[in-house]
Parts: sequence; C-alpha cells; structure tokens
Amino acid sequence: MTLSKQEMPNQNYLFETEQALHYDIKEQVNQLFACSSQATFIEEQIDEITNKFSQDFLSNLDANTDIDLDSLLEKFSDSEIPVQPTNFESYLKYLGNNVVNHSIHTSSPLFIGHMTSALPCFVRPLAKLMTAMNQNAVKIETAKALSFCEREALAMLHRLIYNFSDSFYAQHIQNNLSTLAILVSGGTVANITAVWCARNNALGPKDEFLGVEKEGLAAALDFYGYKGAVIIGSELMHFSFDKAADLMGIGTHHLMRIPTDSKNRVNIQALRQAVVECRAQNLLIIGIVGVAGTTDSGGMDSLAEIAEIAQEANVHFHVDAAWGGPLIFSQQHRHKLAGIDRADSVTIDGHKQLYLPMGIGMVFFRDPHKAKAIEKQASYTMRKGSFDLGKRALEGSRPGMALFLHAGLNLIGLKGYEFLIDEGIRKTQYMADCICTMPEFELLAEPDANLLIYRYIPELLREVAVKKQLTETDNQLINHFNERLQKIQRKIGRSFISRTTKITTSFGTEIPIIALRAVIANPLTTEKDIDTVLNDQIQIAAKIPISTFR
Ligand SMILES: *Cc1c(COP(=O)(O)O)cnc(C)c1O
Repeated sequence: MTLSKQEMPNQNYLFETEQALHYDIKEQVNQLFACSSQATFIEEQIDEITNKFSQDFLSNLDANTDIDLDSLLEKFSDSEIPVQPTNFESYLKYLGNNVVNHSIHTSSPLFIGHMTSALPCFVRPLAKLMTAMNQNAVKIETAKALSFCEREALAMLHRLIYNFSDSFYAQHIQNNLSTLAILVSGGTVANITAVWCARNNALGPKDEFLGVEKEGLAAALDFYGYKGAVIIGSELMHFSFDKAADLMGIGTHHLMRIPTDSKNRVNIQALRQAVVECRAQNLLIIGIVGVAGTTDSGGMDSLAEIAEIAQEANVHFHVDAAWGGPLIFSQQHRHKLAGIDRADSVTIDGHKQLYLPMGIGMVFFRDPHKAKAIEKQASYTMRKGSFDLGKRALEGSRPGMALFLHAGLNLIGLKGYEFLIDEGIRKTQYMADCICTMPEFELLAEPDANLLIYRYIPELLREVAVKKQLTETDNQLINHFNERLQKIQRKIGRSFISRTTKITTSFGTEIPIIALRAVIANPLTTEKDIDTVLNDQIQIAAKIPISTFR
C-alpha cells in the first residue's frame, strides 16, 4: 500500500460507490473487533510499527525536541472527525511524525527536572496484557481476580507504613468491610479522598442528624455548632489541597497555609498556634496535613511532631507522601518519615518513586473502617457486602493499574526499591556537592531527598553573592537571568531542569527567588550526566548578555 502524501488523510481508500461504501464500513469495523486471523494480521502490523516507535523513542537520549509550541499546536487544529476509517498505515505515520516525535523523553538521563522518569522494562508488555484483559476495577463483576490482587498489593504497602500484626492483615486484607487503601489515578485524587473521609468522619451522623454526607456542609456545621471548617498544613502543600478545600465546600481561603523554615519544613510553633486559634474561633479542623517531600524542593515536615499536635487536638492527621513515601523502603533514609505510622491517612504515588506508569495513586488508612464514611451504593452494582472496589472510591470505572503495582512490588522487591531510593539520594548529594564547589552556582537548600534547588549567579555578582550582600535589585537581575537560562535550556532540548519560585526573607523584606530545580530519580542518570547538565547551563549562561537585564 502506498502512503498518502497528506499526513492525516481522511478520505477512504477502497471504495467507489455508495453501496460498496456501506458494505465496506461493516467489513472494516468488524475486522477491527474480530479475533480472526485478519484482525491478528492488523494487530501484528500495528504492533511492529509501534514497537519500532517505542524503541526509537526510548533510545533517543535528548530530553526534548526543539520544536516551538506555536508550530506544534498548528499541527492540531482540525476539529472534524474523519468520515471514513483512516488507513492505519497512514495514521500511524501521522502519529509518529506529529505526536511521538514531539513528545518529551521523560526517560532521558538528561531529563532531570520533573518527577516523571524512566520505567522498568516489564511495564511495557504488562500494559499490553492489561489492555487485552480490559478489566474494570470498579466492581467484582468486571474485575474478578484483579480486585483481590489489588487489595493484596495495597496491603503490602500498608504493612510497610503501619507494620501491624499478622493477625491484623489476616483479618483485613480480603475483608470486604475493610479498606486498607484505595487505588486511585494519582496523588491529587488520593489527597482529595483523604480529606473527604476526614470531613465525613468529623461531621458524621449523630442523634437525629444524618451526617454531612446526606445533609450537606451548611447543615452539618450548624448542627455541630461550628462557624466554619479548615484544613491546616504547610505553605508548601500541593495544590491538590486547594482542589480538596473547594470540593469539600469549605473554600480555598479555609486552607490554612502555615509558614516553613529554611529547610522547607512547616514551622511547628506556628502550626500549634493555628490549631489554638481555630479552636478559639470555633472552626472545625477537618485535618492537619504533613508533607513528606514537598513538590518544589523535597522538604520533609517533622511528621512525629505534627502527629503529636493532631493527636492532642483529636484531629485527622494526613500525610502527603506522594513523592517521599517510598523513602520508607530505605534503611538509611526512612527515619526522615518517622511518625508516618501515626497518620490516619497517607498518600503515596505509584507513578513517581515506585517507578510505575502514570495513573497510580494510593491513599492508605490506619483504621480500615475510615473509608466507610464515603461509601455509596447503586442497585445495579456496588451492592452492600460485595467486593466492589468502586463503592468506597471517588472514581468509577478505572483500569487494572493494580497489575503494575503488584508486579513492581514483586519484581523489584524491598531490596530493589531500597537500592533505587538510596541511589537517587546519593546522586543528588553528588550534584549538591558539585554545585557547592562551582563558583557559577549557588545551592539554595541542603537536599532532604532527591530534589535540589539552586541557581546560577552571573559572574559580576559572584563576589557580592558569596558575602551574602545581594540587594533586592541584584536578586531581581539574577531571577531574570535564571528564568532565561532555564527557558533556553528547555528550548535547545538536550538536557532539562525545571524552575520554581521560593520566597525568602532578606533585609526584612520578602523577596521571590527563582530557583532551578533538579529531580534526580531516573535510575539511568549517572554522575557524568549530572556534569553534562550543569555544563550545559554554564555554556548557555556564557551566551546570555547580562546587559539585557540592567
Ligand atoms: C505529585 C504530588 C501530588 C499530586 O499527585 P498527582 O499524581 O500529580 O495527582 C501531591 N502531592 C505531592 C507532594 C506531590 O509531589
């Protein structure tokens, strides 16, 4: 078959008359669904092409392509669905040229700016298997063994966090009245689910009142005599808590963001004070959030101290360990999570430091009956007493992502994950040490784990910077310089570092500092790659005229 010159042909390629056309649609569509040799033939051909795409994609070591967003978006401006089925060869060619070619190489060893990185090889064939089985984890009637497999995988991680007894796990692991954890699409939904459970438990049914779930927030606050409700946590809380506050009906202004110290940990004194003030103002504290690995700098809150405050106040304690949770695998680093076992709920992302594909978030519960407060039923499904996982979940239909989680825990194991975590942190320390010895850079915080924030200092300001005598104007210039540097590096596309903004106090005024942000999680990244990324930045910086910022 000859390929069309057009990248996205939407004319049919076989038929001549109207009649032939109708006949052919039926043929063609049936062919796509059949398990016949014909369908296998199409599948094999597509497989061959997409396998080639995958191999080329994974072997490309650049972080990015250099196409600019304006030219890219022009390629996607067609709002009409092709009338006839498109010939798959031309469609795949289109896909290769326009989508695959311009996708980010998240597995590149030089792509060290975000929390998304290389995946272990077993997930790719498993993804095919998962799609072939097409289980729907919402209910037992559409996901039989997989529902139990999911519960088993979640129990393994629950045990790592809470370390309850054998009999506890024997009792709850496959008990349909218990929820050790909920598998969701990501950390965002996990955090929202935790806050949802906390809210419904805090404002549950009592006497004649049916609970917030049935009567709504206004009635609940009224019944319990509160003036309003808040969630308290560090100012570096992930923005999914804004979504949670919004969805819970308390409003984002009632998400209380407490200042952090120089190590990006919540200020415990200020947190304690906030709890006292909320009490004095008759505000319900739905939950106190501890962050184990802030998204922007990896800072670890002191979980044990927060646990103490939450316990004293009898408030739900949630730990957002979406990023840092897997440190629990490491003998060397798990002490940074000390106190996590006192949390009422914990979020961990599978698609971050468990090295699993996108779409795996988890929320764990200390009390296996906490999630009862969000349970819903439907007559055609989600029956009471069933094993349907969807009855205690925000999401409805969802894929069998448990397959990856279960495989990861078995194929990588405790020791394997420990190695991955230790290596990431070791390499981050290497990068921090490099930065400290290079006059071009300034380290902005000692890393707690594998996130590093630093910035480039233009030559002319280095002496002043070392003496810590930069003025606000100097800092603004450095900010502009770093922003430009990061954008150019991204545009060139060979290596990649992200950027963030930190607020620091200097000379008594709060000033925003633009920081370069490295995330060292990719097992393929070596020390040499780290050198390359830093050298790329030095080369780029040398060509940025400082005069443009003055
Ligand atoms: C990534 C992250 C989230 C959000 O998780 P998603 O999987 O992106 O929804 C929440 N909290 C923290 C600390 C994170 O790092």
